[in-house]
Amino acid sequence: MKLVIAQMKHETNTYSPVPTPLARFAGSGAQPPEGEAAVAAYRGTGSAIAAFIDLASSAGAEFTIPIAASAWPSGPVEDAAFEHIAGRICDAVARGCDAVLLDLHGAMVTRSYDDGEGELLRRVRAIARDVPIGVALDMHTNLYPAMAEHATVIAGYQTYPHIDMVDTGRRAGRATLALLAGHARPAMAWGHRPMLPHVMRQGSDDEPNRTLQARCREIEAQGALCASVFVGFPNADIVNAGLSAVVVSDGDPARARAWCDELLELAWARRAEFVYRVEPLAESMARARALAEAKPAGSGPVVLLDHSDNCASGGTMDTMTVLGAMLDAGLGDAAAFAIFDPAAVRQMIAAGVGAEVTLSLGGKLDMPAIGLQGMPRQVSGRVRLVCDGRYRNRGPMARGEVNEMGPTAVLSCQGIDVVVISNHVEPHDLAAFVAVGIDPAAKRFLMLKSRIHWRAGLRSLAHAVVECAGTGVCTSDYALLDFKHLRRPIYPLDAL
Ligand SMILES: [Zn+2]
Repeated sequence: MKLVIAQMKHETNTYSPVPTPLARFAGSGAQPPEGEAAVAAYRGTGSAIAAFIDLASSAGAEFTIPIAASAWPSGPVEDAAFEHIAGRICDAVARGCDAVLLDLHGAMVTRSYDDGEGELLRRVRAIARDVPIGVALDMHTNLYPAMAEHATVIAGYQTYPHIDMVDTGRRAGRATLALLAGHARPAMAWGHRPMLPHVMRQGSDDEPNRTLQARCREIEAQGALCASVFVGFPNADIVNAGLSAVVVSDGDPARARAWCDELLELAWARRAEFVYRVEPLAESMARARALAEAKPAGSGPVVLLDHSDNCASGGTMDTMTVLGAMLDAGLGDAAAFAIFDPAAVRQMIAAGVGAEVTLSLGGKLDMPAIGLQGMPRQVSGRVRLVCDGRYRNRGPMARGEVNEMGPTAVLSCQGIDVVVISNHVEPHDLAAFVAVGIDPAAKRFLMLKSRIHWRAGLRSLAHAVVECAGTGVCTSDYALLDFKHLRRPIYPLDAL
């Protein structure tokens, strides 16, 4: 048995000014890893491709990894990057295989295609008409017909934060290999509902997604090969952004259809619970202060989430609104993770550890798609630390994967340790703080540019959490997003 295993993961925020060339998929190398380098990078990690590698090895299958390409979310993927990645995968499939296992995101938009994954699958299917294609997708998939039409099996993450990526790879991979072995006959049904769940309301610990994902697991326990509800990624101005579901039954298309419709109806019935209400920033700051004053000694920090500027949703990670409000409010004894500003890092490295510096921090990137200009903030402080910004996730999310913050510095400013980084990384793992010598549990306040994923590795430290509406292309205010292509009507933008 010969398998092609590959990864192509990017969540595209079509409003993001952050460019997405091939280099963004390359990690620490010049290009995304291939072959043995890809196996070394991912075997044993908390990723869907790791599950594919494991399944192939245990089945004694011969397998090849033409490319493993994953990038932090940002603007539309450059055509050259997509063509490189898709080309590697298609070339490998063209050399012949019995099945293809793909670790994809599901919300990739390229300069030329609103549906990067659908285009990849269309090309693979054109080469290998009868070969089973098993696909693992992120819960933030914006599902397009081409994905469902050309894949044989689709399984999506059932947790957000995404701590079940390995499990998702296993579900997709096992169903695909079972088909090859003649033990299963996957029959897939899929569909949408016209709704745009808000990311801040999508956590799988929160209702209604907790119930939706639990029902997916029940449906699998009742005999489905894979059952997935995709909450969708709303910061994407494309026709099919929003909620969808896919169910794969074993040889029973009618049952797959019924299960899929049941999931979609359940989501639709609870659509109002996916609506997020933004709290004005001044109120958030006052609430954070009150929570800190009332908290028992020794309890963890009050977490302030700068959810409008999360790089794991395509944010520039350099808006200063929330950090600025903390500085103005005098919320000291704090750490802030992180501000993306390679130029400021270079300045701090040049000044050296211990030096007092005055910087124009953040705000280097304009955001024309939401009508905002970058607004740097003049800050003064002491350079506390500089480092190479490399760390390995402890988990539970993406356990074992290496993150590259690039050259990194910590600026101690009015009692706030501000981590300044040169590559985008979302704080969802304790190792991010260990790498910069900060004990987040000992702080009074912790500012995180994150929406839901911080919960994976840091929630257990938090005394309380305050969701702070700042500025950025992950804005939580749908009114700021000019949707030109999204299908309408859609809830809650339109009366339905
Ligand atoms: Zn996701």
